[in-house]
Amino acid sequence: MKLTCLACPAARGVGQYLCRSCWAQLTPSTQRRLNKRDAKAFERVRSLSRQLQSGVPLAEVSVAA
Ligand SMILES: [Zn+2]
Repeated sequence: MKLTCLACPAARGVGQYLCRSCWAQLTPSTQRRLNKRDAKAFERVRSLSRQLQSGVPLAEVSVAA
């Protein structure tokens, strides 16, 4: 199964949500939060994908701490 970026048709790595160029457009604090693997991790990813679906630019995406 080919893993694709949540924000574009490019491939992404296992355990990642976005391809490298999309990831690089997130703010550092959003990157840090998305890198955390805790009880809220799934909620953050859902929030990320919801924002991308509603057209929020990558640089303006924010997720819960
Ligand atoms: Zn991408």
